[in-house]
Amino acid sequence: MAFPITKKHLFWAGIPESDWNNWHWQQASRVTKAAHLKNIINITEGEENALQSPEFLMGITPYYISLIDENNPDDAIRKQCIPQEGELLKNVDDFEDPLSEEHDMPVAGLTHRYPDRVLLYTTHNCPVYCRHCTRKRKVSNPASAATSTQIDLCIDYIRSHPEVRDVVISGGDPLSQSDERLFRIVQDLQDIPHIDMMRLGTRNLVTLPQRVTEEFAEGLRKLNMRDFDGRRKPVFVNTHFNHPKECTKEAAEACHRLLLAGSPLGNQSVLLKGVNDDPATMKELSIRLLSMGIRPYYIYLCDPVTGTSHFRTTVEKGLEIIDNIRGHTSGFATPQLVIDATLGGGKILIPNGIIGRYVGEDYTVWKLINFEKNIHYYVAPTDKSHYYERAGKPAPPEFDISELADTHLKSIVEKL
Ligand code: SF4
Repeated sequence: MAFPITKKHLFWAGIPESDWNNWHWQQASRVTKAAHLKNIINITEGEENALQSPEFLMGITPYYISLIDENNPDDAIRKQCIPQEGELLKNVDDFEDPLSEEHDMPVAGLTHRYPDRVLLYTTHNCPVYCRHCTRKRKVSNPASAATSTQIDLCIDYIRSHPEVRDVVISGGDPLSQSDERLFRIVQDLQDIPHIDMMRLGTRNLVTLPQRVTEEFAEGLRKLNMRDFDGRRKPVFVNTHFNHPKECTKEAAEACHRLLLAGSPLGNQSVLLKGVNDDPATMKELSIRLLSMGIRPYYIYLCDPVTGTSHFRTTVEKGLEIIDNIRGHTSGFATPQLVIDATLGGGKILIPNGIIGRYVGEDYTVWKLINFEKNIHYYVAPTDKSHYYERAGKPAPPEFDISELADTHLKSIVEKL
């Protein structure tokens, strides 16, 4: 499959290729202010309102802006990076920290929720601040920057916990750091005897593929090749493509470099209303990802983060998307549909983890069971398209909504 080279936006037409393809130039030329954005594209009234007081900063690389179809106010790239009016709304179950990552933090900057793996927060920066970001409570905020001392303390924690074998290196976007700083973290982790592998969670392949330079790939290759008494400690790369438009020639080349460096690639998408909540779009994305050497791995239902209610889809839309991929194309292209449960419940596979639902006029509450057999709830818009009937599948049993009266969701009962 051939991928298009991204056409520079006219605003940057005079920029030499050497700058355009330089990640430092892209990073330094990010659009972060409303006045700057208005010089580049016409914004809508809703965007104008949202830009008055964005609670979550804006940051967009020239590369990512160039993917926007300016004539389409509903463009999928636009909605992911330009503040939308929906960010000003508050939903019934919005959370600042929906996954309780701060609660499951034994030392600042490290979340230890699952028995054998941890998440390491290494930076507050990203090339583009995605409007649906789950960590918007701290991402983009310099006050939340992970200092070297903090990272050292996290590594000490991992060193003293032999049950941990897998580390997710996250942020922000870990590739926002220098090669030197990032590789030092990877190397320190590899040196811990009980660590088997790690994962870099990055959206740079989507928003700033120029970041994956030959030098970066070579450094990663060396880390992947380190020999620990006859075994390796691979660095997987997990990325976050949400739409087929993001699969460009630049992205494909960056993926190719990472694959040659020996890093397996996986993708986690987030289902976003008006961006990718459409079976044909997600099927096309899965096929393009495979062509770039990336295995589609998860599709998440959107986390209930404050200011993202306009992005929430029905759970049934996710099921419909999987129905349209499984069997219709390579099994390898079929991601798992998951809900990352609030209050630290972890990832719950859908539909397997559904044990009941309560259908209200506007919202449906889903009763879920996680890997520890704990019950969690997820609130989503009510499906008016009669998915279960259309799909010829039995709907989950209704549960008694009064059981929510003893939970953090009790205020929802009156609003349903
Ligand atoms: S790249 Fe990841 S951490 Fe950064 S804003 Fe986007 S979703 Fe959030």
